[in-house]
Amino acid sequence: MRIEFFGAVRTVTGSQHMISVNGSKILLDCGLYQGSRKASYERNQHLPYDASQVDALVLSHAHIDHSGNIPNLVKSGFQGNIICTYATRDLCSIMLRDSAKIQYYDIRYLNKKRRKQGLPLAEPLYTMEDAVESLKYFIGIGYERPFQVLPGVSVTFYDAGHILGSAMVVLDIEDDETKRDVRLVFSGDLGRPNRPILNEPTFLDEADVLLVESTYGNREHEPAEAMSDKLEKVVNDTCKRGGKLIVPAFAVGRTQELVYALHQLVHNRDIPPTLPVYVDSPLAIDATGIYRLHPEAYNESVFEFMADDVHRDPFGFDMIRYTRSTMESKELNFLREPAVIISASGMAEAGRILHHLKNNIEDPRNTILIVGWQAPNTLGRRIVEKQPKVRILGEEYQLKAEVVTINGLSAHADRSELLDWTGNFSTKAAHTYIVHGEEEASLEMAEAMRRQGYRDVNVPELGQAYSI
Ligand SMILES: [Zn+2]
Repeated sequence: MRIEFFGAVRTVTGSQHMISVNGSKILLDCGLYQGSRKASYERNQHLPYDASQVDALVLSHAHIDHSGNIPNLVKSGFQGNIICTYATRDLCSIMLRDSAKIQYYDIRYLNKKRRKQGLPLAEPLYTMEDAVESLKYFIGIGYERPFQVLPGVSVTFYDAGHILGSAMVVLDIEDDETKRDVRLVFSGDLGRPNRPILNEPTFLDEADVLLVESTYGNREHEPAEAMSDKLEKVVNDTCKRGGKLIVPAFAVGRTQELVYALHQLVHNRDIPPTLPVYVDSPLAIDATGIYRLHPEAYNESVFEFMADDVHRDPFGFDMIRYTRSTMESKELNFLREPAVIISASGMAEAGRILHHLKNNIEDPRNTILIVGWQAPNTLGRRIVEKQPKVRILGEEYQLKAEVVTINGLSAHADRSELLDWTGNFSTKAAHTYIVHGEEEASLEMAEAMRRQGYRDVNVPELGQAYSI
């Protein structure tokens, strides 16, 4: 048996790992590498293996850095099954199409420049048609249901509590060459306890070979601030001033958490039940529909809330409006009364949120609420830093609205939570590979796991292969 690491090693993006056993090849994840445009394009386009020789793809979750290169894999000749949880399959159906759309606009912009310079035009990595075609290859299965991937190899998914449908992958392999049974565990991305909607990550007990993520392998999260307490205060303060609350939020995950938290606050009369809440992002609206379909991923507290017949939909209440059309979205510009507007993108780099920020940022009655980590050089980061002037859609605006940040809402386990998970195995894997972390995070995680009693702990380089 052989494992090769083709992405998300010594970095956090482009997850893909190849298992070769019994003459077959199984790919774990097929993510997009996200870096500078040129480097990413080259790397994503040229798969480091022959796609037609891959027999199956096992997918941990729908985030684009794990799933985003699937349409290209299929276009390049892959013929096998793509096996994941039901919810991951459903999220991929919207996210891969969204990814194709982003690439279309990106290439159109690039080609405008290339045309002027007399350069040959670039092609997108894949089109909408390619994305839709790839959906035919998906097979959704439930958590904790063993499923045969290939003869002698079965997969079981366990809830990873990271995003809807996210799974840790357990492969049970009968290795013909060594005549041994091998259990390979891939953590996928690990979530954390006490999330508003999702379950806690599952603790596993046994592994012979372990691939574990290390995004926060060298960092602890700030203590999570109770989202609902802070949300209650910021909503009420903003309403009292007669202002609007503008929230840039990721369409998948954070938006649904916010909507559910607002629903609870309305129910308890902690915020005015007459306050209109708008979700203004077509992708977020689609994703919310998928959240409704997958109660198997909800934790106990959501069921308690839903037990009352009025709350059968955690994401629906009297004053919430999902604005899909451009016209409805534009009408929000004319709102004069207090309201909450949740829109994407999460770091305010693109999408409808730009219009809401532009229209509301100069009014001190309004509040901009930041609910996620903001990367350097994004508009979101400039707002968190309260820079007095910011550029939005090519024009300069004064930041006069109040800015409030809720910290500690990460969907990733931090260092202690990762080590709680690796420390729980009663048999320590004989071979461990640390993936999905910046180099320093992975190296520190490796050290910590050695101290936990793991013997053969590796931090692979890109393209490195190991025989087991
Ligand atoms: Zn993820």
